[in-house]
Amino acid sequence: SSVARQSLKIGLVPADGIGREVIPAARTAIEALGSDIPKPQFIDLLAGFELFTKTGTALPEETIAALRECDCALFGAVSSPSKRVTGYSSPIVALRKELDLYANIRPVVSVAANPSGKPSVDLVVVRENTECLYVKQETIIATENGREARAVRLITERASRRIGRMAFELALTRPRKHVTIIHKSNVLSVTDGLFRETVRAVPRQEPGKFDDVTIAEQLVDSAVYRLFREPEIYDIMVAPNLYGDIISDAAAALVGSLGLVPSINAGDNFVMGEPVHGSAPDIAGKEIANPIASIRSAALMLRRLGYIQGADRIDNAVDEVVRQGTVLTPDLGGKSKTHEVVDAIIKRI
Ligand code: ATP
Ligand code: MG
Repeated sequence: SSVARQSLKIGLVPADGIGREVIPAARTAIEALGSDIPKPQFIDLLAGFELFTKTGTALPEETIAALRECDCALFGAVSSPSKRVTGYSSPIVALRKELDLYANIRPVVSVAANPSGKPSVDLVVVRENTECLYVKQETIIATENGREARAVRLITERASRRIGRMAFELALTRPRKHVTIIHKSNVLSVTDGLFRETVRAVPRQEPGKFDDVTIAEQLVDSAVYRLFREPEIYDIMVAPNLYGDIISDAAAALVGSLGLVPSINAGDNFVMGEPVHGSAPDIAGKEIANPIASIRSAALMLRRLGYIQGADRIDNAVDEVVRQGTVLTPDLGGKSKTHEVVDAIIKRI
């Protein structure tokens, strides 16, 4: 819900690769809103793999401290080194923990001029953001038969309940009000069994509140298959961390490009917008990164804070530009530069 604020303090963490090209684009879109939102105050902050290679730290204490003073933030992307680098761990994973951003909310929507020509998609992946295999407790030992590696997969009732509640709350705001629980409890009956059972129990904790919400569940493999064949059956997909990660990239492919898909990392007290794509080293520095995922992430962030009108203005402007189809970056089959897409969007805002 919206809090009356004099100004809106927004932390900006572009981090690596195209993050540095698309976060400034999102900033420009927010600035274009004028009096729809409190006067934005932007705080530029450092993080990332490149910072680590220069300074030995990927997430400075100052960045975390400054974010705690902000109302919200936008994060770009971090490059992931292809091999394990001693002393390095992903700053975004750490930030989600530090700020207790337990939900990653990823709406995937196809617009009219959908270049992939696939059926229309309008779903939200609600991904648990703090546990599952992302606790990163991996070990490797030497055995008689060679090395043996193991990873811990943590699923707790608390985290499953709060991600479940987030999914049901979100369902109430949507026309179809349909939640699909994604799991693999035929194989992982203990961990995924707990996730599934806990999410299913959420409506029983607040009797009456979620009566209009319908619930389905699906094994993750069949969910991916059906996502490609009949994406229109999905409204809210709630999933443990790793399945949520994979499903949202797959859904992004359905709507034409990773460069279109936004997300927020949300907790009870803070929200951080973040495009679903990564640092895209293959196109970094060429000024052809699609800024739409980041611009839409800014809109999602504002929506979560209660600035619906501002969020709508950004989303409508983006939709018009995509639908018109004349100013698009190469990932969508266009020839335009990042800044040209930004300009077209700003003009419509
Ligand atoms: P990372 O390790 O940071 O995730 P990656 O190599 O996996 O890097 P992604 O950023 O995940 O790269 O992108 C996957 C593919 O999608 C790349 O080919 C990339 O160029 C493309 N892509 C991602 N984001 C965008 C964008 N905003 N605009 C255009 N193309 C994009
Ligand atoms: Mg990637």
